[in-house]
Amino acid sequence: MGKDCLFCKIVNREIPAEIVYEDEKVLGFEDINPQAPVHCVFVPKEHIATLNGINTENSALAGELVRASVEVAEKKGLSERGYRVTINCNSDAGQEVFHIHLHLLGGRKFNWPPG
Ligand code: 5GP
Ligand code: ZN
Repeated sequence: MGKDCLFCKIVNREIPAEIVYEDEKVLGFEDINPQAPVHCVFVPKEHIATLNGINTENSALAGELVRASVEVAEKKGLSERGYRVTINCNSDAGQEVFHIHLHLLGGRKFNWPPG
């Protein structure tokens, strides 16, 4: 795990978060600075800094993040109207926390192409 990693600390319950999903490999929680009426983030419990760290050994984790977000989107009533999932990688995408996380955003219209 990343010693000074914020999301590892949330996984280890050293920092509080409002948890919306948990299984053996994945934790989902409310984003502290929501950009939409629904804004949750899903992280692997294992520390991987960026999407560049996904490889043939661990790629199932990426599917787990997606599956967990689909489940929470359904619970939050977003399935029919729609929602967006995003993973930001490094500086051009605006990644700020260097522990892979998938954003689930919903409850409003989103622009395409994104800003
Ligand atoms: P990034 O820009 O790296 O893709 O997204 C990082 C996300 O983590 C941001 O949406 C930000 O609001 C969220 N975040 C940063 N610090 C905390 C925190 O301490 N708790 C929670 N729940 N979310 C955080
Ligand atoms: Zn971490």
